[in-house]
Amino acid sequence: MTYIQQTISDLKHTSPAQTEFYQAVEEVLNSLGPLLESNDIYQKQAIIQRIVEPERQIMFRIPWVDDNGDIQVNKGYRIEFNSALGPYKGGLRFHPSVNAGIIKFLGFEQIFKNALTGLSIGGGKGGANFNPKGRSDAEIMRFCQSFMNELYRHIGPTTDVPAGDIGVGAREIGYMFGQYKRLTGRYEGILTGKSLLWGGSLARKEATGYGTVYFAEYMLDELGDDLKGKRCLVSGAGNVAIYAMEKLYQLGATPISCSDSSGTLYHHTGIDLKLIKRLKEGRRSDLVEYLTSYPEAIHTQVADYPENGHAIWRYAADAAFPCATQNELTLDDAQALLTNGCKLVSEGANMPSTNQAVEAFLEAGISYGPSKAANAGGVATSQLEMAQNASMQKWTFIHVDQQLKQIMKNIFISASDTAKEFGQDGNLVLGANIAGFRRVADAMIEQGVV
Ligand code: GLU
Repeated sequence: MTYIQQTISDLKHTSPAQTEFYQAVEEVLNSLGPLLESNDIYQKQAIIQRIVEPERQIMFRIPWVDDNGDIQVNKGYRIEFNSALGPYKGGLRFHPSVNAGIIKFLGFEQIFKNALTGLSIGGGKGGANFNPKGRSDAEIMRFCQSFMNELYRHIGPTTDVPAGDIGVGAREIGYMFGQYKRLTGRYEGILTGKSLLWGGSLARKEATGYGTVYFAEYMLDELGDDLKGKRCLVSGAGNVAIYAMEKLYQLGATPISCSDSSGTLYHHTGIDLKLIKRLKEGRRSDLVEYLTSYPEAIHTQVADYPENGHAIWRYAADAAFPCATQNELTLDDAQALLTNGCKLVSEGANMPSTNQAVEAFLEAGISYGPSKAANAGGVATSQLEMAQNASMQKWTFIHVDQQLKQIMKNIFISASDTAKEFGQDGNLVLGANIAGFRRVADAMIEQGVV
């Protein structure tokens, strides 16, 4: 058994039943071979064993009362994974699928993603197995307040700064911020993704989606190409997908699909983004309602998806932007994309492609931007929000957007140069993993055994 196989096998004993976490660890560790062989310091310092173990895991009860007067109980999490580079930073996810394994996979990815931004932020993640779907505004508020009643004692502007993720947007951040302020009496930057009225940063809402598209432009630029005229499959219909579509249109490309928990929407002449924003940002309705305005569009329900895959990736397109959730793109999906001529994948969601799908993209030699590089624009802009809060400044949209673009460019260069350094030109998975890991690992070594 190799050193890496041994580490994963040990993890399965010490942290049982955390499938997505093992997947994320395997993906990173399998890239590190060339680095570990070139320098035995990481093995001597037990960096791998230390880095896969969170510094601290907080789990708590979230009791709350629903609109019928019934008591509900959810499970809450904050995994403070690694603080070598700065305060723990990463979002909160409210979704019924949330469990310790999912939060750990997200937290683990966040460490390297945050390192890649070049900024001073450590890695963490949290959330709850709460399903916001169908809940009233008052229920959301009571849930958020109960969540913060426990979380407040663990966070702070220089210790741990959560943000949004799936199911957590400006509304939830607002309710949690209000409760923190009430409990502590302090008005400080303990959350990012805040409203523009009180401490939020311009361009934060757009940053993850825009950043994923900027990353795609940098990948194409390397090949002397660009996004103009490209037909693009986008999945998801949340914040990341909506602003990925917006930037695609701005750069002359055409997004032709999106998806939500009800199914997949395909519109061959291009998605009407204004309508999607109306359906999703305001009323939170299902995508199927799009057909009322555009009967020629195609909506496929989840029950009708192909076996071992998703309807969305079966359409022909030049590029794919998975912006929904983990493991939404399988090996069969990857093969269908490649057969249909897809030449680029840039990931807006966290770990949307299975490890087998990633292998298929790398083998085919297409431009593949792994999530921890391609979607780092969101958290990077969160750090810009922290910087504005700490210095009591408010920057313009253009100023933040320009910094975001530069950060995405730096991430691309760092992943691409690191891949070249280890003789794997174009392998941005290896490049991103080694570049992110090396920065965290070297900081850990310099800070001693803590
Ligand atoms: N949830 C986002 C991510 O996956 C953003 C985290 C943040 O802004 O802290 O990176």
